[in-house]
Amino acid sequence: MKMDVEELIGRLKKRYRVNFFYRSRDPFYVLISTVLSQRTRDEVTYPVSGRLFERFNSPETMALADVKEIEDLIKEVGFYRVKAQRIRQISQILLDEYKGKVPDNMTNLLKLPGVGRKTANCVLAYAYSIDTIAVDTHVHRISNRLGLVNTKTPEQTEDALKMYIQQDMWKDINELFVKFGQEICRPISPKCDICIVNDMCPKII
Ligand code: SF4
Repeated sequence: MKMDVEELIGRLKKRYRVNFFYRSRDPFYVLISTVLSQRTRDEVTYPVSGRLFERFNSPETMALADVKEIEDLIKEVGFYRVKAQRIRQISQILLDEYKGKVPDNMTNLLKLPGVGRKTANCVLAYAYSIDTIAVDTHVHRISNRLGLVNTKTPEQTEDALKMYIQQDMWKDINELFVKFGQEICRPISPKCDICIVNDMCPKII
């Protein structure tokens, strides 16, 4: 039976405010913050991106920064040494190839080091307000548990969700599912007994 997605999203929206993860919609800020957030908890990422941007807030300043200083500013995030290098490389590429602007299309975003589909989709959705679905581990897991999709990879999930869910809901999916996945539909021991969509869920775990 096809899930009533409107009802599902409606219930999630009643519980979680869609209030936009980022403190700025500046494309460079969204891009770099999303790179920092990879394999790192949100509560760690936010203060780190704030600190980094207080010091270097443009591709021009970031490209000239000492990589050791970037490392020191971001050392709480996972893989901070690799990310410091990538942030500098990305900044230089933006200057060399895109006149200092962050690309607004998937093809060119994916050419940047350390940028995969999830990061690129975050930039498109949150910086450029383009309808898309950023699929991370929460979105992938929950979509499969709910039976919205039956997929093996986040890329397949993105395609399948876009076929299933009407376009005007796409941008909210990531934030709603991430919050829901952190609180209730957790990776291990989901709290099905208190779940707000329990009656709709086939619990494909
Ligand atoms: S009922 Fe359980 S598996 Fe289904 S969405 Fe809720 S927490 Fe996740």
